[in-house]
Amino acid sequence: MAKYTVPANGAKIGYKDGKIQVPDNPIVPYFPGDGTGPDIWKATKIVLDGAVELAYKGKKKIAWMEVYAGLSALKAYDKDTVLPQETLDAFKEYRVGLKGPLTTPAGSFKFVCLDCAAELMDRPANCPKCKSEWITPRFRSVNVGLRQKLDLYACVRPVRWFTGVPCPVKSPEKFNIVIFRENTEDIYAGIEFEWGTAEQKQVYEFITKTMKKNIPFPDSGIGIKPISKTGSQRLARMAIKYAIDHKKPSVTLVHKGNIQKFTEGAFRDWGYEVAVTEFREHVVTEAELWDKLDGKMPAGKVLIKDRIADQTFQQFLLRPDEYSVIATTNLNGDYLSDAAVAQVGGLGIGPGANIGDGCAIFEATHGTAPKYTNKDMVNPGSLILSGVMMLEHMGWQEAADLIVKGLEKTIAAKTVTYDFERQMPGATKIKCSEFGAAIVKNMGGAAVAA
Ligand code: NAP
Repeated sequence: MAKYTVPANGAKIGYKDGKIQVPDNPIVPYFPGDGTGPDIWKATKIVLDGAVELAYKGKKKIAWMEVYAGLSALKAYDKDTVLPQETLDAFKEYRVGLKGPLTTPAGSFKFVCLDCAAELMDRPANCPKCKSEWITPRFRSVNVGLRQKLDLYACVRPVRWFTGVPCPVKSPEKFNIVIFRENTEDIYAGIEFEWGTAEQKQVYEFITKTMKKNIPFPDSGIGIKPISKTGSQRLARMAIKYAIDHKKPSVTLVHKGNIQKFTEGAFRDWGYEVAVTEFREHVVTEAELWDKLDGKMPAGKVLIKDRIADQTFQQFLLRPDEYSVIATTNLNGDYLSDAAVAQVGGLGIGPGANIGDGCAIFEATHGTAPKYTNKDMVNPGSLILSGVMMLEHMGWQEAADLIVKGLEKTIAAKTVTYDFERQMPGATKIKCSEFGAAIVKNMGGAAVAA
């Protein structure tokens, strides 16, 4: 029997003709996550439920279903299980989910404490740092596992500025960009050979002797970067479709094709191919714009252009308003999306989603911020705005709009969590839970206890 309980008052989200079919009482699997996850989850649930109630007066309601991952999975299953198959199956079956951040071990130690993220070489009964008993063997990222096993091939991050949010640039209002980052290939393929192993030697010899390619030093770790036509085109397709549906002016294919022609360069070529073969009526390429249209963009069409990755970082700082939707490979997208979020005020307010065909998980894009665990202190904005993306994905736009309104009003009133307060002169510092309650109040909802 499954460890999770299916809510009796909910119904499954369906899928027909490439679109999700959302009932009025959809079952939505979620997990709060590790570290500060439970704090931001509590604030987020109050805001999402408050907005849905206010928008639909009881006609619609989310039936939340808790599933387990990370620390909660160790507690519910056993001390070696961080990503239970049941959790994967639930997200697949119920199609739309929301998740908090999870601890991801990074170094060459053997065990990790999921309460405080301490990295350990052995497995004591209790963590030497925080005394927790929840220590588990080192594992690959659960986030990456979820994305790969559910084939959530696009990591989507809308990045925009909210009036009043402290940020390092002069004109943050010019930034309104949605980044579609490929989620399954490139460095996420995770193919690496460690120097000193028999496998590395074999690969090194194959590359240098059989393929006659130069690797400067034999003592090299070797990584393989696969980028396929299938993976690139489905990502580009999703980004272009999004731009057309949301009446966005352009899609930019970001790549490093000047150096890596058969992976990064091919990504660009395959992106253009999808654009002109599948969306011909809706798009104009940058070459067509200048060769055939004298630089005059026809109304209602989406411009398809491409830029080299390093130049895109400059462009984001100098002329962000020339960019609207970005489609890019995994590593480029990783750097670009974090840099973009920093430009408009930081990770506390950057939402994200991992989307595949018929399944999507919305998530806080920052980590577990372990030093603030159980302090009811961090900014829940990232998870709340991920919830906004989720409501939009479900077609519940009215509720999504209410939350954005409530958030804008709360920030404008300078009642913010510590991360914003330390940069906003005259601001009042409030707790994570109080920030959630303030958003509900400012959207016009019923008062909730913080
Ligand atoms: P992090 O958890 O994102 O925290 C780094 C810093 O960012 C925090 O110390 C804090 O800065 C700020 N921050 C993060 N979340 C915030 C929030 N909600 N509100 C305000 N400020 C926030 O990164 P990390 O410390 O490198 O990683 C901790 C663990 O999380 C690691 O195990 C990592 O692998 C994992 N991780 C998980 C995910 C995910 O699940 N999607 C993503 C990234 C990292 P200040 O201290 O300066 O205020």
